[in-house]
Amino acid sequence: MINVETVLQQYIQIPSVSGQEKAAGDFLKNICLSNDLYIADFGDKDGQYNFAASVFPLSSGKPNIVFLNHIDVVPESKSEAREPFSGTIENGVIYGRGSIDNKGAALMQLYGILSLMQDTDLSKSPYNITMLSVSCEETQCSGGVSYVIENHINELNPTVVFGEGPSELTTLMEGDFKHPVFGISIIHKKLLWLELELETKTSGHGAVTPVTYANKELVAALERLTSKKAKIVFNDINTKFFKDIGQYHKGAKKMVLKHPRFFKPIFSSQLKTRPELFSLLTNTITLTNIYSNSKVVNKLASIAWARLDCRLLPNTNEEEFLTMIKKTLDNENIKIKVLKTSPKNKASNPETIYYKNLTLAIQDTYKKSTTMDILMPNVNDLGAFRAKGIPAYGTLPVFFGLEEVRSVHGDDEHLHLNSLYSGAKVYYNFLRRMIQ
Ligand SMILES: [Zn+2]
Repeated sequence: MINVETVLQQYIQIPSVSGQEKAAGDFLKNICLSNDLYIADFGDKDGQYNFAASVFPLSSGKPNIVFLNHIDVVPESKSEAREPFSGTIENGVIYGRGSIDNKGAALMQLYGILSLMQDTDLSKSPYNITMLSVSCEETQCSGGVSYVIENHINELNPTVVFGEGPSELTTLMEGDFKHPVFGISIIHKKLLWLELELETKTSGHGAVTPVTYANKELVAALERLTSKKAKIVFNDINTKFFKDIGQYHKGAKKMVLKHPRFFKPIFSSQLKTRPELFSLLTNTITLTNIYSNSKVVNKLASIAWARLDCRLLPNTNEEEFLTMIKKTLDNENIKIKVLKTSPKNKASNPETIYYKNLTLAIQDTYKKSTTMDILMPNVNDLGAFRAKGIPAYGTLPVFFGLEEVRSVHGDDEHLHLNSLYSGAKVYYNFLRRMIQ
């Protein structure tokens, strides 16, 4: 049986920034091989390194319970106090890029599976159990999960997929919570990346200011777009979320949360200061880049570009959204190009045996806790499975403090080691219930 702390430490110590997954992937695959899992390779080069590690060979054809994780990490940040890939353990906390996202999460899954294999006779299991590790989730490149789905979905035969999602919620939210509440995501927002391009005839020396020129016009149009108030859109999932949260508040706040549509004006003004909650109710537009074709200060650019990272609520009509953007920019000459869009992503049903057993497994592990289905504001690999009609649930069934959550993609990413064991315990308990 593995020493999960040491394995995580070693796994963190092999840097695997998106597109460079092979070395870290080989390491993890070898751990799986030497612990009697069957390996199926779905690509073995950087940027396209994916493998399944299963209790039974995939050729058994059993319906497969798949635990999904990604090998890649985001680059180190510039202001970290510690070595970014150190894997150092201090006072029960492990540090380094990937310690949560997603190497720590992967080892919770693997340790849960291996613990089950060690103390349970699985020979009659109706299900196969698989850990699926993929490349470049963070950049959503084509060699990762989408490659696996396009080429190996039948072989993998997933009946359900578990992957990245929210941790316990009450430590991150205000309210009068008596018991822990774990979020299980059943859908995420849609991604829409746009590039705006504006070309004007005027180009020349900066000493004579033309009436209009590319940079000036584009900035003015972007000002119209970014200052536009986001419209609040209620759908079944976000309405239910706020109603569920309402039961943990008292008095007026409870009233407002339980009836979000009715109290929309009060509700929205309260949420403006909480972008992470506000994003559950709105289509967001973030201006991430502005650039032009002039690199010198005294030469006017003839072309200016901007990029927008838009995240849309699941039922948003993309055409209508683009029309709204065009109208708000209010400049006929700006060309809008769609750089990337995520596949259509239908909510997974929270009434399945998988969701129910996950809830029970969380309750086995954390006494008196409950679960709540939620919409995730950020896109992840589960959407690609939902697009194929396969139920996919997102969870990281552990307690995180706010600073731990903020360390993901931030400075000094770290994970409390006891979370490594309790997260694994949830997966173990889940699998026990599934094979009973
Ligand atoms: Zn991740």
